[in-house]
Amino acid sequence: MANLAQTLSSQAQASIKQADTVLFSLVDRLETQGMGPDQLPQLKRVITTQRNELAQLHGLFIYDQKGAWIVDSNGILPPNANNADREYFIYHRDHPDRAPHVGPSIKSRSTGEWILPVSRRINNPDGSFAGVALATLYLDHFLKLYNSIDVGNNGVINLISADAKIVVRRPFNETIIGTSIADGPLFTQLLPKGDSGTAIVRSYVDGVERVVGFRRVNNYPLVVFCAMNEEEVLASWRQETLMSSAIVLLLISFVLGIGYRFIRLMRQQTHIQNQLIGAQDKLLEANHTLELLALEDALTGLANRRQFDLFIQAEMGRAKRGRTTLALLMIDVDHFKRFNDRYGHLVGDECLRSVARIIQENIRRPGDLAARFGGEEFAVVLPSTDYVGAFIVAEKIRKAVLASAIEHGDSDMGMVTISIGVSACSPVDGETPDALIGAADKALYTAKTSGRNMSVIAN
Ligand code: GH3
Ligand code: MG
Ligand code: MG
Repeated sequence: MANLAQTLSSQAQASIKQADTVLFSLVDRLETQGMGPDQLPQLKRVITTQRNELAQLHGLFIYDQKGAWIVDSNGILPPNANNADREYFIYHRDHPDRAPHVGPSIKSRSTGEWILPVSRRINNPDGSFAGVALATLYLDHFLKLYNSIDVGNNGVINLISADAKIVVRRPFNETIIGTSIADGPLFTQLLPKGDSGTAIVRSYVDGVERVVGFRRVNNYPLVVFCAMNEEEVLASWRQETLMSSAIVLLLISFVLGIGYRFIRLMRQQTHIQNQLIGAQDKLLEANHTLELLALEDALTGLANRRQFDLFIQAEMGRAKRGRTTLALLMIDVDHFKRFNDRYGHLVGDECLRSVARIIQENIRRPGDLAARFGGEEFAVVLPSTDYVGAFIVAEKIRKAVLASAIEHGDSDMGMVTISIGVSACSPVDGETPDALIGAADKALYTAKTSGRNMSVIAN
């Protein structure tokens, strides 16, 4: 808009300057040679030629001090025509200054066309008012140029006189020509701050918000003002901005979507992990409880150590109350380490199972309990049994194992044998199972040291 205003003000200045130069030399000629009747034919020739030289020139006219037409370039001298009422005539008559005057646009009396009058005062030799020389410019000359410039659908180009009257306006509207815009933003806000500039203002004429550029025309009392609808200026920018905003929004929502999914997955994972940990804890707890509750040895199916402890404790109490005896056999497989070394652990396990079965088969009383004491050691609790009875059971078991003839290449006998320690007691108050177990253990040790494959009674 600033560049456009600059260009158009140069154009306006050049167009007027050309006409004014003609006027200047015409006035000079009139003042030196006078404008008597003998001058007229030549004068007429001169102005006709001059007028044809310049395309923007509608006509050249000379009026005497009363406003009567003396010469006109267009050759149509209306009878008794008088222009004493025209603004430019009154101006020059009343103002002695010699500067060119640019008047408000008018409709020509000779041709009916819209024109811009540029005029100069003609003086008598004594300096008194002798008449007016007038050049008229086609408004169309400006309008054609203005119309050829693309300022959008709602754009405006104005040439305005310094006293705020519209000289020519694109889009053209006859009724607006000559309208004063002295109260508009151009004269109230923009021009007071400088001779040229740009701004965004609401039009005084049609109320539309516009991006404007303006500039005063050099040497002539005119201002060029051009403006484009703000909406149109920003339309393509808005569209691009909208597009990129939409894309950015799309990307952001995409990232948000992924982020949201990711966070949800992480939450789910944490939740599942917590559940797993919880389940694991519960399982461990359950296993622990099961272990505590289990009373049976997994390998042999005999009672386990836990059951043995509970059982012997209970039987001890019962024997005390019933004043009966309680016997215990501690059984240990002979050279079982060698057996494992020779045949392997799995065969060792099988052997332990066989020994356990044999023990179980040889204790027939329902109150008896065979237990796996630990490793390859077994214990048999025999309630209401004394040394003799217990020893008989022990021997029965020992012989049965021997009879089962489980091969043991690294034993003196060539087969699996067991040693048994036998203990028995008539428990009195304060006696614990440990004493009974300790006695059986000692007897077992004796059996081992005495050659194995035998039953030994404690003490
Ligand atoms: P001793 O005649 O003096 O009793 O000799 P031993 O080799 O039997 O005695 P020791 O206590 O030195 O070795 C016992 C072996 O029993 C050691 C161990 O590998 C084995 N054993 C303990 N429990 C098991 C089990 O459940 N399965 C198997 N296969 N072997 C076991
Ligand atoms: Mg042992
Ligand atoms: Mg052993």
